[in-house]
Amino acid sequence: MISTAFEYSRATSLDDALAKLRASNGDGKLIAGGHSLVPLMKLRLSEPKTLIDIARIPGLSGINKNGDAIQIGAGTVHHDVATSALVREACPMLAETAASIGDPQVRNRGTLGGSLAHADPSADYPAAMLALDADIHVKGPKGSRMVKAADFFRGLFTVDLAADDIIVGVQFNPVKSAAYAKLYQRASHFAIVGVAAALEVKNGTIQSARIGVTGASSHATRLTDVEKALAGKPLSTASIEAAARLAGATLGDLNSDIHASSEYRRAMIPVFTERALQRAMERAE
Ligand SMILES: Cc1cc2nc3c(=O)[nH]c(=O)nc-3n(C[C@H](O)[C@H](O)[C@H](O)COP(=O)(O)OP(=O)(O)OC[C@H]3O[C@@H](n4cnc5c(N)ncnc54)[C@H](O)[C@@H]3O)c2cc1C
Repeated sequence: MISTAFEYSRATSLDDALAKLRASNGDGKLIAGGHSLVPLMKLRLSEPKTLIDIARIPGLSGINKNGDAIQIGAGTVHHDVATSALVREACPMLAETAASIGDPQVRNRGTLGGSLAHADPSADYPAAMLALDADIHVKGPKGSRMVKAADFFRGLFTVDLAADDIIVGVQFNPVKSAAYAKLYQRASHFAIVGVAAALEVKNGTIQSARIGVTGASSHATRLTDVEKALAGKPLSTASIEAAARLAGATLGDLNSDIHASSEYRRAMIPVFTERALQRAMERAE
């Protein structure tokens, strides 16, 4: 199908994009990589009257260190996250998450900000952001705010973002002992079940764990039962196997579609939780 007619305008700065969004009176939409928005427009599930292109705003993309933290601009494409020497060294889980997205075309056009704003229930980054306890930097007409990933993802395609807000980027403290494991759709590579796990380990004991799951339900969420079961346990395969068995048991309605039934997803959550945790453990050793 062909989208409805729209005006196109390229923003030259963040403030210009905010002004253009405000001027569109709710009928405008930002476009970054277009890999989620354009399919929606072609299906006429989204019919913006104005598209505001933010893909070439200087400074909106890039990966930098800020003290111990890493900052990634919203306009950074998946390929750049996957191949960043800084991310691969300090936080290999995030590089492997980005590398697992779609295909080369998707990874070279799709952006971190677009993925987080769109919040597809099968998107990969949300699980990683939860496991990293990332701060999502949002700018709107009233100024800037930082939103914890755990507060950002609220429901099906629903995030803590107003129509005139822009995601500027994310910031997190990198975790080396972390990993992402996913069961993916063979065609698109979207997650049927994707689990990002991050461990904090001291003297062979798990101090704390953060685990994000995507693909399973309406939006990415933390597996707090597993996190609690791991805290204070020795870093061992036995601890991981015992904790992973709890994964997903208390999650309510799970997704069911042509790719996998809800029962299958429920069965796969512990499997992929265990895989992510095992790899996170190997990176901690
Ligand atoms: C064939 C195919 C396979 C895919 N496979 C996967 C996969 O395996 N895993 C996965 O996670 N994703 C996958 N995707 C989705 C892909 O990662 C998208 O690129 C991404 O979800 C959206 O990023 P974008 O830059 O293309 O956003 P766009 O499509 O440009 O925008 C998406 C939405 O986000 C809004 N938006 C964009 N940027 C911002 C911003 N900075 N602030 C606020 N709002 C913003 C837009 O207004 C729009 O509503 C796939 C897509 C395709 C087409």
